[in-house]
Amino acid sequence: MHVTMVKKRLKNGQPCDKCAQAEDLLKRRGLWERIDEVVWADENDDSSPGMRLAREKSVSLAPFFVVKDGEAEQVYTSALAFIKERLGGDAKPLAAPEPASVESLALELSGKSPAEVMARVLQQYGPPAASSCSGAEDLMLIDLAAKSGHPFSVSSLDTGRLHAETYRFIERVRKHYGIEISVTAPDTVAVEDLVRKKGLFSFYEDGHSECCGIRKVGPLRRVLTRYAAWITGQRRDQSPTRADVPLVQLDTNQGSDGRILKVNPLAEQSLADVWRYLRDEQVPYNPLHDQGFISIGCEPCTRPPRPGEHERAGRWWWEDSTKRECGLHLPK
Ligand code: SF4
Repeated sequence: MHVTMVKKRLKNGQPCDKCAQAEDLLKRRGLWERIDEVVWADENDDSSPGMRLAREKSVSLAPFFVVKDGEAEQVYTSALAFIKERLGGDAKPLAAPEPASVESLALELSGKSPAEVMARVLQQYGPPAASSCSGAEDLMLIDLAAKSGHPFSVSSLDTGRLHAETYRFIERVRKHYGIEISVTAPDTVAVEDLVRKKGLFSFYEDGHSECCGIRKVGPLRRVLTRYAAWITGQRRDQSPTRADVPLVQLDTNQGSDGRILKVNPLAEQSLADVWRYLRDEQVPYNPLHDQGFISIGCEPCTRPPRPGEHERAGRWWWEDSTKRECGLHLPK
């Protein structure tokens, strides 16, 4: 059997979300090796191999799979159907919580401590992802998860633009807790296209959303298709954009079927609470904090806040304060 997967590259140079999700699904199920060939259908190039194949097979959707078995050939436009029928894999999507169960969980967890929230969520949803391990809040979450006694996962986004200190710190955390940390890279083609067309610092000229979209939002979306719940370090007093963060919510912008339980155990904590915890529990922290950084992101887009400034004022400091989110936490 020979399998060709056709992925679509959009006019803006990025791969289509569905193609990225299908690839991730195959990888998570250990089936990626069964794809013999990947070709691109480039919206800017009618003669690209994938566009030609789409015309030949009369297919208008991407991704699609062309399976040749001897003389027989079949085209699949559904990754799930392809997996189920040809690879014998478990094509059942991961279960996402129902809205009613999120509401009742929110009621149950109201007034509970971060440790209690963490333990309860890990107990019910297995190992959800704590999405990063760079800043103080992330480390409090990892420490709480480790002390809960339940299995958990840690996933970090490697944008390619992090501080050297952060890369070294990720390694230190891995060894300190004896845990695996998934480090997810952005789509290479999309990054290369952006840099070729706009250079390495386009965010200073036309805003951070395009670069963050490629280096953060897309990769996180792929990561979160593996989980039923996502644990974040958001706090209400971090910035005006986070003033209403609840303890738990249904995020309809992520997850394998368009929704995921999003848990914010630190929503009601202050920055001082977080640091008290780190000190009391002797939790390792990113050495950039000792240089005055409070919120830590990519190197070109983060600076320590100035005296009197808000703690996230050093993130994308050249932009309006109401736009200083990278897109990971924006509603759909
Ligand atoms: S924080 Fe800056 S460098 Fe990092 S992904 Fe966003 S715009 Fe790009």
